[in-house]
Order: sequence, then C-alpha cells, then structure tokens
Amino acid sequence: MDISYPPEIEGFRAEVRAVLAEELPADWRGMGAIPDAESTREFVRSWRSTLHRRGLLAVAWPVEYGGRGLTKLHQVVLVEELTRAGLPFGDVPRDSTGLKMLGNTLLRWGTEQQKAELLPGLLSGGQRWCQGFSEPGAGSDLASVSTRARLDGDEWVVDGQKIWTSAADRSTGIFVLARTDPAAPKHKGLSFLLVPLDQPGVDVRPIRHMSGGAEFCEVFFTGARTRGDMVVGAVGGGWAVAQTLLTFERGEEAATNPLLFRAELDRLMELARRTGRANDPVLRQRLARCYARVEVMRYLGYRILSDVLAGDEIGHAASVSKLYWSEYHREVTQLALDVEGLDGLIPVGKGPSRPMRADDPGADPLSTNSWWQVSLNARAGTIYAGTSEVQRTILAERALGLPREPAGTR
Ligand SMILES: Cc1cc2nc3c(=O)[nH]c(=O)nc-3n(C[C@H](O)[C@H](O)[C@H](O)COP(=O)(O)OP(=O)(O)OC[C@H]3O[C@@H](n4cnc5c(N)ncnc54)[C@H](O)[C@@H]3O)c2cc1C
Repeated sequence: MDISYPPEIEGFRAEVRAVLAEELPADWRGMGAIPDAESTREFVRSWRSTLHRRGLLAVAWPVEYGGRGLTKLHQVVLVEELTRAGLPFGDVPRDSTGLKMLGNTLLRWGTEQQKAELLPGLLSGGQRWCQGFSEPGAGSDLASVSTRARLDGDEWVVDGQKIWTSAADRSTGIFVLARTDPAAPKHKGLSFLLVPLDQPGVDVRPIRHMSGGAEFCEVFFTGARTRGDMVVGAVGGGWAVAQTLLTFERGEEAATNPLLFRAELDRLMELARRTGRANDPVLRQRLARCYARVEVMRYLGYRILSDVLAGDEIGHAASVSKLYWSEYHREVTQLALDVEGLDGLIPVGKGPSRPMRADDPGADPLSTNSWWQVSLNARAGTIYAGTSEVQRTILAERALGLPREPAGTR
C-alpha cells in the first residue's frame, strides 16, 4: 500500500511550513505549553485570525465562498502540520459548529443568498452558530423533536426548548431542527431553520458539567422569530439536511483525529517512562494496545479520505469513525489515570488547553490536572454527536443490513 502524498500536496505542505515559520515565535513549543487558560484563549483567538488572514481556514471550500478550492487531502496535510507544531485548526467549538457543520452543510443545501449572507461571517468569525438539535424529550431519537415553528406572514415563529447546546451563550445564531408540520409523519414534518439568538424570544441558560466547566446550555424559544427565507433545504425536508450535517459532525475529521490522538499518546508514554510505570507489564500492554488502536484509526482515516477523494459520500464511515475515536479516548484517558496512580489524587499543573478532546502538544505530561480533566471530558465523547449505542444501531441496520430494531425500543 502506497500512502505517500502526490507532489502537489507536498508542495502545499512546504507552503504551510513557510507560513508557520513566518508567523510563530522562534521559541514556540506548542499550545499545550501556554501557561494558563486565559493566555490560551487569547492565543486561540489570534491564531484563528492568522489562519483566516493567510487563507487557511477553509482550504477545501470553493474560491467564490472564501476558500482556496483545494481538496480534503490539502486540508489533511494542513492539519498534520498544525498538529506537528502544536497549533489548533481554528477555534473549537465555534468552528466545529460554524465551519465544519453549518458551513459545509450550507455548501450542500443552502441557497445562493444564504451562502452569500452567512459563509463570509462564518469564516471571519463575525458569525458564531450553535447546534439546536437535542431536546429534553429528543436526543438519540432526534426525529421526535417537539420545538415548533409556524409561518406568520414572512417570518417563522419558534416555540420550544433545546438542551445541551454547546457554546450557545457565546453564539450569534442557532440552527434549529423544528417541527413545521405536526400532522406529517415524524421524519417528514421537520425543517432546518437558522434563528438569530440576540432577540427577546430567546433565553439561553448555561449548564455546569462534571469537570467544572459550562460548555453547553439550555435554550428556550418563546415566540422567537426568524425570516421566512432562513429555512435550509425544503420546508418539511429538514431531516435530510440534519443528516448531512451530522455526517460532517461525525466524519469530517476522520483523517486528522488520529494525529491529535497520537500526540496525546506520545505524552502519555513519556509520563509512563518518567514515572517508571512503563516497566509495569500490564500498563505496557495497555499502552501498546492504545498505540495499535491509534494506528488502526489512522488507516481507517486514510480509507475514508480515499473514498471522499474518489467522490464518494462519507456515509456510514462517519459512524465508524465517531464510534472508534470516542471509545478509544475513554480507554486511553482511563489508562492515563492508572499510569498516574496515587499521584493523580493531588491535581497539579495546568489544565488541558481544549476541553472536549485530546490535550495539545507542548502540554506537560506530568500535569495531573490535565489528565483528569481530559479523562472526565472523554466521557462526553461517546454521547455527543450521537451515542455509541446509536452509532452501533446505524451500522447494524444501514451498513450491515441487519433487521431494524423494534419500534417500541426507540
Ligand atoms: C458535551 C456535550 C455536548 C453536546 N452538544 C450538543 C449541541 O451542541 N447540540 C445538540 O443539539 N446536542 C448536543 N449534545 C446532546 C447530545 O447530542 C445528546 O446528549 C445525545 O444525542 C444523546 O441524547 P440524550 O442525552 O437525550 O440521551 P438519550 O437519547 O435519552 O439516551 C440515554 C441512553 O440510552 C441509550 N439509548 C437511547 N436510545 C437507544 C436505542 N434505541 N438503543 C440503544 N440505546 C439507546 C443512549 O445510547 C444513552 O446511553 C451534547 C451532549 C454532550 C454530552
């Protein structure tokens, strides 16, 4: 198997390296080495502006929408170089919901007016969007959403509640899966609406989670309004739009995730060496298993990328990727706590520079504060973007063609 990249891709890598050499200080060691949370946030903001200024935030988008018209492989090489240098690819979660989910979905489903109105703001950072799918009565069974929207003249009026909405308190808009035809079968009566958050009909309340942060919120709509043309796809066709968005959410990083996880695992192996626990045969075996799993993730990522480059949809592979990385991350972070042993009971050092995923290169492997927080947050990985059970059901029914689960169990 030849996994070397074509010369034009390596040329792009050289371009990225030149940008990094110009933009970074000579003593740069990686974002994990930034001493505190406030300086990290400040760095992420300014680095995002740098990526935007250098045209590197959405290289695979068409030129007319602010991208470079390059391929997903260029994007992978860009993220490889950023990860090697311990740099973030944008501002998470803002760019995760904004560029990765909404931006890519608008490119597929949006009208020319919606693209012209929204994509430049998503790129510049002026527009920050969050994901209004889950409700108290609709999570795994997403098609059961009961938030309603009705047309009143040339505006939609929205009533209902969303929950677990990441970064809603820092967003300017929310994309809402809402029921626009209560009489239609449940998957057919839904529409995908873009709703501004800064209005009297919207109330956003942050929720504190178990690792101490408040990443997500409850969002209440009481007669909230949005323009009639702010529906993406057809009225009543929101389920298909939501499925496209979820595929981007679950599968877009399949080829780049393993890079972050490998850097994190390298740090864990360094911790095991420095504490002498690398000599424990059971811990060694578990480290080796994690190493093998990251390698499998890497080749899985290449396979998904090859399919995408060949023009295929990511499809079910998005669920394979999401299931695999999230379950791996629970395993490796539990292992980190076991490698720390009793030392982990007295947290010292800096916390992780990003809350929900792997911590960044440059982070001190001995920071017990970092490992326990990443470990708690890894629990969320098997829940958000669809739980592991849901991914297994999707794969069983849609990829393997097994019998559908009985309706009563949903
Ligand atoms: C950190 C974090 C961030 C999030 N951010 C967002 C966001 O920005 N926007 C948003 O809309 N949502 C967000 N979510 C919500 C997330 O998508 C839901 O939590 C998830 O879809 C599960 O839904 P639920 O919490 O209602 O659990 P439920 O659907 O009630 O599931 C409870 C348990 O039952 C299992 N289960 C349910 N149905 C089945 C079945 N048919 N077969 C087998 N097992 C089943 C589930 O796997 C789970 O273990 C976020 C969640 C987290 C943890």
